[in-house]
Amino acid sequence: RLDWPEGSSDSLSSGGSSSEDSVYKVLLLGAPGVGKSTLARIFGGIEDGPDAEAAGHTYDRSITVDGEEASLMVYDIWEQDGGCWLPGHCMAMGDAYVIVYSITDKGSFEKASELRVQLRRARQTDNVPIILVGNKSDLVRSREVSVDEGRACAVVFDCKFIETSAALHHNVQALFEGVVRQIRLRRDSKED
Ligand code: GDP
Ligand code: MG
Repeated sequence: RLDWPEGSSDSLSSGGSSSEDSVYKVLLLGAPGVGKSTLARIFGGIEDGPDAEAAGHTYDRSITVDGEEASLMVYDIWEQDGGCWLPGHCMAMGDAYVIVYSITDKGSFEKASELRVQLRRARQTDNVPIILVGNKSDLVRSREVSVDEGRACAVVFDCKFIETSAALHHNVQALFEGVVRQIRLRRDSKED
């Protein structure tokens, strides 16, 4: 079902990997209303509350993936900062990018492609992992973007793909674990 090509993950964890203390920075991008903040809050372990709508949050958490702990900083700051495209800002700071669209909103899907193009331009020389996320998979009756369209887009843009439902907490953990695996794959191939 998921398009993580992680048949190799077992071999990665068996190699007595050095546990670095580095914190991986993960940026959430995407059109307004697609569920970025909801995904970030679930990652941060924060349930919806009165101040749940406050903009611009950073979530810091450690998760164990394939037997190895990883610290993630998840930045939900996309909409608050108009300067995100400037060098040294969002587009330059991530160890991984999560581009979110809503499967109920074709426009947000097109926006995701746009962001991918801009990201490639901003990070031309880096092989930085990007995960395309089709959120709101629980809203089956309002679906405007098929799983196949999402997957095909990810192939074209050379990134990973997953559908999530923040409302049902479905695949949210899998998403962030996948982010860690993608970062590690790049890290480990650099060390060779
Ligand atoms: P953001 O603008 O990208 O940060 O989007 P939000 O996280 O603020 O979510 C926008 C709206 O979509 C809120 O009302 C959320 O409750 C709702 N929402 C987010 N994720 C899901 C989901 O997976 N399924 C459904 N049905 N609603 C969602
Ligand atoms: Mg938000």
